[in-house]
Amino acid sequence: MQTAETEKVDVGQAVARVLKEVFGFDSFRPNQEEIVRAIMARQDAFVVMPTGGGKSLCYQLPAHVMPGTCMVISPLISLMKDQVDAATATGLRAAYLNSSLKVAERVAVQRRLMAGELDLVYVSPERFAMPEFIDTLEHVELAFVAIDEAHCISEWGHDFRPDYLKLALLTQQFSDIPVAAFTATATHRVQEDILARLGLRRPHVVRASFNRPNLFYKVVPKQKGLRQILRFVKDHDRESGIIYRTTRKSVEETAEMLVHSDVKALPYHAGLPVETRAANQDAFNRDEVDVVVATIAFGMGIDKSNVRYVLHGDLPKNIESYYQETGRSGRDGEPAHCLLLFGYADIPKIRFFVDQIPDADEKRHAINCLNDMIGYATVHACRRKALLGYFGEHYPESNCGGCDVCAGEVEKVDATREAQMILSAIARTGERFGMMHVVDVVVGADTQRIRQLGHDQVKTYGVGKDHDKPYWRFLLDNLVAQGVVQQTEGTYPVLQLQPVAREVLFGDKQVHVLRTRKATGRRKATAATAVAAYDELLFDELRALRRRIAAARRIPPYIIFSDHTLHEMARKCPLTRGSMSRITGVGDAKLDRYGKTFIDAIADYKEGKQH
Ligand code: ADP
Ligand code: ZN
Repeated sequence: MQTAETEKVDVGQAVARVLKEVFGFDSFRPNQEEIVRAIMARQDAFVVMPTGGGKSLCYQLPAHVMPGTCMVISPLISLMKDQVDAATATGLRAAYLNSSLKVAERVAVQRRLMAGELDLVYVSPERFAMPEFIDTLEHVELAFVAIDEAHCISEWGHDFRPDYLKLALLTQQFSDIPVAAFTATATHRVQEDILARLGLRRPHVVRASFNRPNLFYKVVPKQKGLRQILRFVKDHDRESGIIYRTTRKSVEETAEMLVHSDVKALPYHAGLPVETRAANQDAFNRDEVDVVVATIAFGMGIDKSNVRYVLHGDLPKNIESYYQETGRSGRDGEPAHCLLLFGYADIPKIRFFVDQIPDADEKRHAINCLNDMIGYATVHACRRKALLGYFGEHYPESNCGGCDVCAGEVEKVDATREAQMILSAIARTGERFGMMHVVDVVVGADTQRIRQLGHDQVKTYGVGKDHDKPYWRFLLDNLVAQGVVQQTEGTYPVLQLQPVAREVLFGDKQVHVLRTRKATGRRKATAATAVAAYDELLFDELRALRRRIAAARRIPPYIIFSDHTLHEMARKCPLTRGSMSRITGVGDAKLDRYGKTFIDAIADYKEGKQH
């Protein structure tokens, strides 16, 4: 007779074996094991986990082990084929049902489903909502149902889908089948809504930390935007990256500039024809281009795991979008960079749109969101702590090791004396001039306008000639953002002092600004983002090999092996089947299918190096 204890051990061992043999992973990521166990114990589950946290394993592993089929409801038809290809590459028996299938294909999948030949069937919510499909399900042995992107059932979420409401039927009509719902959307309001609408029965609830330890956050003052973008992209040569810009025009302009500079880049925005958009997204997914330059229209349906950076060329309008967009990098757990180019000139552009919002409450909310975003970019505090704090999560470490502030790349400097100089120049010229002119006065420029107005006679003329004009503009931008100076609206905005300006002038209040420290070197390795050394040339070879195989099989490269797996191969150089099987991400199916090809490539490379 088995006691409960030995049974538990057996399940644990079986699960650990499947984790290694099928998925090729040595250990679970945080929370995965408890979720897998809950599902296998036929309990409902509700999981909030950030992008890249490893949600798919939580249902794919039980789907492989449990008798019957796991039905996965997923809203993104465009993604289903990739999801099924990925599951198949891992050795799972998977198929999908959605409106893109021809009748004969659909019938074939339904036949396999009813014959119990599938571990996983991905189903669109539209298909699920059809009465005849629900009839079909009566004849299927369902192990459990997994609901992906579960926030789509909530009107509070950002992409509500009416078809998701039908999913409430699951717990009513199929009352003995466990339901596990997954989402990466964080707010508590959405969580309560999902739980209520789905009618989950005493679910195992997991709210994972939203921290993404492998992402490095950095904010840099935007000066020459396009040139800065190019520098960054060249520094990350041949890595996959997404560049977000606000307008279609700046997307086009940036993409053109990159292509001109021999970067493989494509644009993506809602103004492009649907086919072009799909083709560009596909080319990015398949590593045929390195960079996609996009508006926020790009993102939903990006499952690519090897995005190595997300660069925001303009200020996002709130932290939610910023976090979601940066979250698309580094899903494979390897280091990735999130760079924000922050220019004060972006603020009035966003304000312009916010000011059009008719509803007063909504407008106030939008302004608060924008101010939070500006705060994130300008406050001298750990970026990670600030982001997590925004989502109500306390980050305990004093140094995250994974942001520019903690890595010591930016410093806070006292600029009170300089602020007094420029504030005095504004006061003495009667608060009637714009930035350019005020800066000219402070640096002592010899312009006709200055002579005409007699501003070469004011006391502050030329007091700031130790600094250049860009410095003074930078300082003024800071004073505007900190509410010391106000810039009027209209075609010729002028600078006016706010009440706190007097405190600064009289020495009662200090002014601090953030400056980037000089030459800290590119991609400084830190605790959070360091990746152990590997042979970069070999990695390039293996990546090229991965791309060739993927092209021949018409699947995205990351489905074959992740960047993480290729890095490990380029570090450990496995030359036998045994050593290859120990590489993370090499399960039995992939070992059989690709092991030898990759071992041969490594052997060739080694041999080539000896000659
Ligand atoms: P999510 O759906 O939560 O965004 P995914 O399921 O796509 O995340 O997983 C992200 C990446 O993490 C994938 O490349 C996956 O192979 C990898 N992964 C998942 N679980 C593990 C694990 N236990 N060990 C190593 N890698 C893992
Ligand atoms: Zn930090």
